[in-house]
Amino acid sequence: MNKPQILIVEDDNAVANLIAATLETQDYAYKRAQTGAQAVLEAVSCKPDVVLLDLGLPDMDGVEIIKKIRSWSAMPIIVVSARSEDFDKVSALDAGADDYLTKPFSVDELLARLRVSLRRVRNDGARVGEESSVYENGLLKIDYSAGCVFVSGSEVHLTPIEYKLLCLLAKNTGKVLTHNYILKEVWGSPTASDVSSLRVYMATLRRKLEKSSGGVQYIQTHIGIGYRMLNNGK
Ligand code: CA
Repeated sequence: MNKPQILIVEDDNAVANLIAATLETQDYAYKRAQTGAQAVLEAVSCKPDVVLLDLGLPDMDGVEIIKKIRSWSAMPIIVVSARSEDFDKVSALDAGADDYLTKPFSVDELLARLRVSLRRVRNDGARVGEESSVYENGLLKIDYSAGCVFVSGSEVHLTPIEYKLLCLLAKNTGKVLTHNYILKEVWGSPTASDVSSLRVYMATLRRKLEKSSGGVQYIQTHIGIGYRMLNNGK
């Protein structure tokens, strides 16, 4: 198999060097870009498996870069931003980024996020040509055609809203979904409900899944941002 190719978009050389050195230890291939314009060009020409995108670039807003890439590709994009930029993270995720890393981040954190994104690419590839009616993730199983959910082989009874929430998260396994995105997809518009009721639905859903799985965590909460379905498979 070819080495996974990562595009590092970062105008701070010290950070870019650290990321590059980390990728070398794992035998990943990489390209570097220091501006938004270069990033878009490299994304088109080298078609990386994952883009690591610094949101604070000199020439272009990070969200604009995500929109440009999303207009022709679903390649995973992990945004990298400073802690004070929560609002930017949410806009980046809403524009189609998959995940985020907050500076300063550890090498382990960086590698873990990359593995999640690369797994998502591989799973997407495997699904092509096979419209699967069953979702399996560790002990969790969703039978879409029957509309049933099982954990460890026993059926878990969900309300219609909980079921919709679960299917949305499952369809986007590994990806962080923002509150706004979830509200829009499940309730039709972000004003139809609000974040606090979403939180209540999620808490109930998580309790039901974790009770039957003996505490295995499926849904990860990102405070102030949204939720992610973790991949508990192999
Ligand atoms: Ca920067």
